[in-house]
Amino acid sequence: MNRVILIKYGELSTKKGNRSFFINTLYNNICSKLVNYDVKITKDRARMTILFKDEDLDNIKDIVSKIFGIHTFHVAFVCSSDVDDIKNTLLNVISDEKFKSFKIETKRSNKQFPIHSQDFNKVLGGLLLKNIPNITVDVHKPDMWIKVEIRDDETYIYYNTYNGCGGYPTGTQAKGMLMLSGGIDSPVAGYLAMKRGVVFDAVYFEAIPHTSLDAREKVITLCKKLSSYTNNINLHIVNFTPIQEEIYKHCRDDYVITIMRRMMYRIMDKLCQKYNGLIIINGESIGQVASQTLTSMSVINNVTNIPVIRPVGCMDKLEIIDIARKIDTYETSILPYEDCCTVFVPKHPVINPKLEIAIEEENKFDYTSLIDNVIDSLNTIKISNDATEDKFKDLL
Ligand code: ATP
Ligand code: MG
Repeated sequence: MNRVILIKYGELSTKKGNRSFFINTLYNNICSKLVNYDVKITKDRARMTILFKDEDLDNIKDIVSKIFGIHTFHVAFVCSSDVDDIKNTLLNVISDEKFKSFKIETKRSNKQFPIHSQDFNKVLGGLLLKNIPNITVDVHKPDMWIKVEIRDDETYIYYNTYNGCGGYPTGTQAKGMLMLSGGIDSPVAGYLAMKRGVVFDAVYFEAIPHTSLDAREKVITLCKKLSSYTNNINLHIVNFTPIQEEIYKHCRDDYVITIMRRMMYRIMDKLCQKYNGLIIINGESIGQVASQTLTSMSVINNVTNIPVIRPVGCMDKLEIIDIARKIDTYETSILPYEDCCTVFVPKHPVINPKLEIAIEEENKFDYTSLIDNVIDSLNTIKISNDATEDKFKDLL
């Protein structure tokens, strides 16, 4: 018997004017993710269906549960919209299930269908009571809540619900640039931005030999995990060593972190211009460390006019960790490799830096040409979760 995955859109259904753009983007994202599977995908304004081969169901469910813009989905049996066919199909599929109580909910978008929804609930309920021993109707807390959706050409019968990851389809917003360190916060920030439909390139600042290649591998792994929610992500690796060394040579100890982060923001500003990023995304969270007090953030942010979005800005660490576990980045993030922000941490970083002092200190060396040099020598890798994308990349 044919089954389909029946997808409900959730939040995007509130976007009236943009609705078809959202649906088309979601459709393209699903096609792209399932390009290696033998599927037939259909869409309309309320639903999308994926007709699949039985042996692929588990894999496809896994993939669909990671595509943004999907609120819930069901695995539904399909039959024609003929009264007898619906009755036979229901009886057939339900006989394999174990339950004591049930409820039937019919929705009839096919107004040619000869029986009203309420009446058809009774017809189907009566059919089950007559044919299956020891079951009762319970409209409040049924073991089995059976939905029957009667549409023009076919009918869907289902009694399971799987959660999608919600949000808006990736690609319904413009592009940002994510500052991706090996820590816990920035992958979560990236995930939350993607959930709003944002696509991004990731940028990692490394300071070899002060940081190791293992630290780079860790960031690549994190990027790969994030890419399972989208298609591929360009990861730009910035060689931050020359700038960092100059900062340590010339600037007063308590300001090195402030200045280091101002340099990172300057580089992010240039990379946004180079790669058409409209926003900078990062994992800063208010008060987490000295460089994330509001005073610090304001002095650091002062070098760019590009909006900086901080998706975890107002979250507790424990809330961030919960999401990191859910998206499977936590175990990688806690691997103990040094980051360029942690290798030379001063004993007493300034908590309330002054803008004039930061400017005075950083003017002790020629950072402009150093920044141009690191951008010229950028190392970019395309990270993807699997090797299937190329066929569909023009759709995204
Ligand atoms: P995370 O915040 O990701 O857990 P962290 O706590 O070590 O790592 P912070 O020092 O809190 O990082 O830095 C705040 C944010 O700045 C990070 O979330 C990340 O977005 C950005 N950032 C810090 N270090 C780097 C780096 N080496 N490369 C890219 N971005 C970085
Ligand atoms: Mg942090």
